[in-house]
Amino acid sequence: MSTHVDVLGMAREQLAIAADYLDLDSGLHQVLSHPMRQLVVNFPVVMDNGEVVCFEGYRVQHNSSRGPTKGGIRYHIDVDVHETTALAMWMTWKCAVVNIPYGGAKGSVKVDTKQLSLREIEKLTRRYATEISIILGERSDIPAPDIGTNGKVMAWIMDTISMQKGYTVPGCVTGKPVDLGGSLGRVEATGRGVIVATEEAAKSIGMNLGGAKVVVQGFGNVGATAAKIAEEHGAIVVGISDAVGGIYNPKGLPVAELTAKYSGRDGGIREYADAQAVTNAELLELPCDILIPAAISGQITKDNADKIKAKLVVEGANGPCTPEADRIFKDKGLFVVPDILANSGGVIVSYFEWVQDLQNFFWEEDQVNERLTKILRHSYAHVEATMKQYGTDMRTAALIIGVKRVADATVRRGIFP
Ligand code: GLU
Repeated sequence: MSTHVDVLGMAREQLAIAADYLDLDSGLHQVLSHPMRQLVVNFPVVMDNGEVVCFEGYRVQHNSSRGPTKGGIRYHIDVDVHETTALAMWMTWKCAVVNIPYGGAKGSVKVDTKQLSLREIEKLTRRYATEISIILGERSDIPAPDIGTNGKVMAWIMDTISMQKGYTVPGCVTGKPVDLGGSLGRVEATGRGVIVATEEAAKSIGMNLGGAKVVVQGFGNVGATAAKIAEEHGAIVVGISDAVGGIYNPKGLPVAELTAKYSGRDGGIREYADAQAVTNAELLELPCDILIPAAISGQITKDNADKIKAKLVVEGANGPCTPEADRIFKDKGLFVVPDILANSGGVIVSYFEWVQDLQNFFWEEDQVNERLTKILRHSYAHVEATMKQYGTDMRTAALIIGVKRVADATVRRGIFP
C-alpha cells in the first residue's frame, strides 16, 4: 500500500535488529522471518450489472506459538501478499509485546470499495470469507477490521462462518457491532490506546499533552478517534489529513465538527474553509509537538525524516516509519512510540471481545476502557525499562520483548515432531 516501500523488507530488518540483541539462534530467526501459512485466493463476484469480476485476496498467518492467530482484514487496491505478510508479522509482535495470548495474522483483498455498491461489498465479503474459512475459526484464526473494513463487514463474516457451522459463532471475528456480540469500546479502542501511549510518552520526555500542538495523518477510525481524544485532553489539533489531503490551522481545528460534517464527503475535510490546505506530504512536516501518523505504511522515510519538526511521533498506523527514518530520528533525538505498542489498543479490546463472546458474558464500557488503559500503561513501562536496559530506541525495545516472548514459546513447546 505504500507503492515505493518494501514493507516486508522493513519488517524483516526490524526483526534482524531485535534478533541481534537477543543473540537469537539462526534457525529460530529463520522460522520467525517467515509466515507459517499464506493462503492466496482468487474468487468471482457477480456484480450488480450481471458482470462477473474476479478478485484476489490473501490470509496470512505468521506464527501461532502463543495462541490462535489474530489480525485485521484490509480492503485496498494496493495490497499484495508481501505487505499482508509484513502486517501479519507485526501482529505477532504486537500481541506478544502487550502479552495477550495470540499469534499474528492479516488478510486483505485487492479492491477499491468506492467503486462497489454495498450489495457488491457484501457479496465480495461473503465469498472471500468462505474461501479463507478453511483456515479461520474462533480457536484458530480470528479476523477483525482494518483499513477499508468495519463492523458491518465483520457481521457478514460472522454470519458466513455461522451459516457453515449451522449455529452462531460470535467469537470467530472481532470488531463486530455491539448487538451481535461486539464489545463496548472496541470502535474507539485503537485511537484511545494511541492517546494513552501519547500521554505516557509525553511524560517520558517532559512534555505536557494539555496545550501540545498535535498533527494527525489519517482521518479514518484510528486518526479521527485519536484526534478527538487528544482534544479532550486539552491538546490543540493543528493539522489533520484524509486520503484526499490535509488542512492546517496553527490556532487549532474543530475535530468534532470535522468528523460530523466533513468526513466521508468527496472533498473530505479539505472542504472545511477556516484552514490552509496542505498535501499529505506537507502535513507531516508541519510545525507541531506531536505527530501521529495514522494512515498507511511507508510515510516517513529517509527522504523526509529529517524534515519532521515534531518532538514525539506516535505510530497509529502500522509501519509508517522505515528503519532508515528510525536511524535519522535516533540521531535527531526524536522520540518514537512504535506501532506494535502505540496502536495495540485495537487488538487488546479485540481480545476482550473474544473473551466476552466465549463466555457469553459482557462487560461495561468503563471496565473495557480501564483494562485497556492498564494493559497499555503496564506494557509501556515494560518497553521503557527494556529501552533503558539495552540502550536502544523504543521500537527495538518493543521488538526485543515481543520477539523474545514468541521465541521462548517456540522453544518451550519444541519443534514438532
Ligand atoms: N487491524 C488492527 C491492527 O492492525 C486490529 C487487529 C485485531 O483487532 O485483531 O492492529
